[in-house]
Amino acid sequence: MAKVVKFGGSSLASAEQFEKVGSIIRAEEDRRFVVPSAPGKRYKEDTKVTDMLYACYDLAERGKDFKAELAEIKKRYDEIISGLKLNMSLDEEFTEIEKNFKKKAGKDYAASRGEFLNGKVMAEYLGFDFIDSATVIFFKEDGTFDADKTQEVLSAKLSTMKNAVVPGFYGAYADGRVKTFSRGGSDITGSIVAKAIHADVYENWTDVSGFLIADPRIIDKPQKIETITYRELRELAYMGASVLHEDAIFPVRQEGIPINIRNTNDPGNSGTWIVGSTGQKSKYTITGIAGKKGFCSVNIEKDMMNSEVGFGRKVLQAFEENDISFEHLPSGIDTMTVFVHQDEFINKEQKVVSAIQRMAKPDTIDIESDLALIAVVGRGMKSMRGTAARIFSALAHAHINIKMIDQGSSEMNIIIGVANEDFEDAIRAIYNIFVETCL
Ligand code: ASP
Repeated sequence: MAKVVKFGGSSLASAEQFEKVGSIIRAEEDRRFVVPSAPGKRYKEDTKVTDMLYACYDLAERGKDFKAELAEIKKRYDEIISGLKLNMSLDEEFTEIEKNFKKKAGKDYAASRGEFLNGKVMAEYLGFDFIDSATVIFFKEDGTFDADKTQEVLSAKLSTMKNAVVPGFYGAYADGRVKTFSRGGSDITGSIVAKAIHADVYENWTDVSGFLIADPRIIDKPQKIETITYRELRELAYMGASVLHEDAIFPVRQEGIPINIRNTNDPGNSGTWIVGSTGQKSKYTITGIAGKKGFCSVNIEKDMMNSEVGFGRKVLQAFEENDISFEHLPSGIDTMTVFVHQDEFINKEQKVVSAIQRMAKPDTIDIESDLALIAVVGRGMKSMRGTAARIFSALAHAHINIKMIDQGSSEMNIIIGVANEDFEDAIRAIYNIFVETCL
């Protein structure tokens, strides 16, 4: 058995948190490969080390003095080192970082030092080997992740090792220049390492006990999701539910490795399992609800639209030419509606409208803004009668007008469009009917 364990920034924000992490790792010999984030916030108003590094490098880039800022960052690590009573110093590393900042080594290099240094501390604390991710995780010249080269080099390297710490968030181009993933990218590193060693499990340790059925800012203490499939998670993450970086799913998905989201502050909790497929029924008909505000609908009407071949293509071309992606496309016999992100669309609105006029020659175009989309997701909905009926009657009882309905062919999600102002009430109504009434 081999497990990859990734710890988020809040799990590694102080010596006290490191100690919790240490006991989690030592509790199971299988927890062989560790992927740390940079130290995160110790309390609500605190600053993450990654953000401190970005700010510090910004000064360096502008030719300003950054000594005090860099010293503050060093203090964060020194506190952890002394709190853990480790016999180590990061003096040399910081001298090197200062030198490279002066040489303007780049924003990615700067940000990556958070994980690099935390990895060093973690390796020393655990007595594990340290691997610099710049030597095993690679990016192509166009900035995309080089999965093939990484798999080859990383898996060869790790196959010779019993234990190792591989810092999250960064890798390098072929010429050695450091490149980071997008923010929160240590989750991706964990997934890549899990794939490289064909891990049995990828444990992702954070500060919540897994995914919740709905957003806790809307629902008071929502229940936890026990098991969710990668596909369900994609749908919910796309609609705004976040715990794990979206791109972290792909490497492990290819290998069929389950991800277990766990809470460093509550290690006894089994968390949420993210799996390829499962015969396990979810407790409720739905697995989760998520949504986003800020959409526009562009409603297009034309008599006899149904018999005009190519109409839809012409409409969509108007969006494509203006570099706008669409979200949903409900249609009727003589109507077609295109849902787009309001902030992307608003400045290009008139250009898109005239392009539609020119190319598709509709009778009318009508734009409605301030709409929200809600995804009700669940593998349990498939071949289950009455799910849509329950959603709609719950919304009707809550006096919410539904603007759009879209059910994917997978029968795994139903998307509902409502006015922005009805968003929270709609989520509460749906949560109540499926979870509170427990059917
Ligand atoms: N430290 C990086 C960030 O704050 C990456 C991570 O924690 O996953 O985004």
